[in-house]
Amino acid sequence: MIAIKDTGALELTDKFSVDESIALQLDLEDPLSEYRDHFYFPGNSTIYFDGNSLGLFSKEAEQSLLKVIKDWKELGILGWYKPKNSWFYFGEDLGAMAAPLVGAEPEEVVATGTTTVNLHSLVSTFYHPEEGKCTKIIADELDFPTDIYALKSQIKLKGLDPKEHLILIPSNDGRTIDEDKIIKRMDDDVALILLPSALYRSGQLFNMEYLTKAANDRNIPIGWDCSHSVGVVPHKFDEWGIDFAFWCSYKYLNSGPGGTGFLYLNRKHFEKEPGLAGWFGYEKARQFDMSLDFNHAKSAGGWQISSSNILCSAPIEGALSLHLKAGIHNIRKKSIHQTEYLIYLVDNLLTKDPYNFRIGTPRNPAKRSGHIAIEHDTEARRINECLRIYHNVISDFRPPNVIRMAPIALYNQYHEIWLVAQHLKQIIDEKEYEKIE
Ligand SMILES: *Cc1c(COP(=O)(O)O)cnc(C)c1O
Repeated sequence: MIAIKDTGALELTDKFSVDESIALQLDLEDPLSEYRDHFYFPGNSTIYFDGNSLGLFSKEAEQSLLKVIKDWKELGILGWYKPKNSWFYFGEDLGAMAAPLVGAEPEEVVATGTTTVNLHSLVSTFYHPEEGKCTKIIADELDFPTDIYALKSQIKLKGLDPKEHLILIPSNDGRTIDEDKIIKRMDDDVALILLPSALYRSGQLFNMEYLTKAANDRNIPIGWDCSHSVGVVPHKFDEWGIDFAFWCSYKYLNSGPGGTGFLYLNRKHFEKEPGLAGWFGYEKARQFDMSLDFNHAKSAGGWQISSSNILCSAPIEGALSLHLKAGIHNIRKKSIHQTEYLIYLVDNLLTKDPYNFRIGTPRNPAKRSGHIAIEHDTEARRINECLRIYHNVISDFRPPNVIRMAPIALYNQYHEIWLVAQHLKQIIDEKEYEKIE
């Protein structure tokens, strides 16, 4: 009994139902089921649906972290120079390892800095309003706030007023952004476009290829914050012709709290001057000449600023090995199956009065990333608390009315999705939320 099609769409056969047996069957047929045992779960029988905020620790990530700790113990500073896997090239090596996940060449990706710092570094490289008449940056009003704070500060550093120079494309429904509305605003006063690949609240996944092509056609550089899609959605950065991108490693990539971020730079921009220079971006072979004239590496590595964060990068190696082994296309396929199943259960069990839940995520699987926004207009915050306190379910609440749930292909089961739907039902049936402040 295959109840879900390969495309991810639900096939509503007679046999398909909200019964528990369906969930158990789907788990039996799951080709990625073996990966669950590689992960550590917090607490006893916790259902962890928050891997889009902080992915779980794996045995592989632990091993690669321990390897670095051992090297530090045994080698001291020589860890930077060992002939194989030296710390000196760690950022470049991890970038090369991550490149297949985003459709890039190895030297176009580097593990460095953090998401917001990489945004600053790349935007300061591409945003030069002093050079011409185009001075504006396009973003959207549903962006993750740090991106907007950073863009405003970049504009102010140029002596300009963000009120005038930052264009936030508005949403029609508070959940999604109309892609054609973004394209319509790509006028010749625009110096740069910076968008998230997926919106953090509703999970809307932008058609990056479509928007990038529109930007390329108008000669406007376009960059993408892919924190909410790398590790769950396949990307083809080179093929799509995007100019730059950056993303964190601690969400779908499971590399630990505050883990080192990534940046991608299209090779056609390797000669550009890095906006925020630092000695770790120096041409590798001559970095220790200690010249006072900066000469950056002609690769994404040229956009490193400081010494590589070795300890915060160490888990990435092990964590990425699981993604590469499982295959990003298989991960995406299962992720879609799981979010489709969750939507099905909400639709069939939880939308009518007195439950009143609603799906706030695009229903077309191609239009969403890895999580589902379950909306509840009056009690979302308290329901999310009930899930954690009374049912051992970790999900997150995003004001004003969203409970985000991310079943993670590498470690969550269909049966957990089924259980969560039962818990949501019980929380309403028994008015559990009234017990929460
Ligand atoms: C998680 C996230 C960030 C996080 O930024 P940090 O600098 O890593 O704290 C930034 N942008 C988006 C879109 C995110 O989802």
